[in-house]
Amino acid sequence: MRIQYPRPEEAPPAKPCFNCGDLASAMWSGRQDVYVCGECAVAILPKLIADAVPTKGDGGTQTFRDHLTEIHAGYWYAVACRLSGTICELQKWIDNQSSE
Ligand SMILES: [Zn+2]
Repeated sequence: MRIQYPRPEEAPPAKPCFNCGDLASAMWSGRQDVYVCGECAVAILPKLIADAVPTKGDGGTQTFRDHLTEIHAGYWYAVACRLSGTICELQKWIDNQSSE
C-alpha cells in the first residue's frame, strides 16, 4: 500500500510564479502576496537579495559577507519551520488514520 501524504493545510493557493508564470510552490505575504515556484526561488531570489541589500562605502564586500551570514541563518530557520510543519501535518494525518 502506497502512503498518500496529506497536503499541508497552509499550502499556498494555486497561483502563478511572479517570474515565470508556472504554478507557484510558495507564497510570501507582505503588502502584496508574492508567489514563486521552486526553480525561480533558487535561480532568482538570491539575485534579488544581492540587488536589494544596502552596501556601505567598502564597495559592498564586507556588507555582502555580513548579510550572507544573516541569510544563511534565516534560510536554515525557515527550513526548520517548514520541516516541523510537515512533521506536525504528518502526525495529524497518522492520528486521523489510526482513529478511523
Ligand atoms: Zn517561476
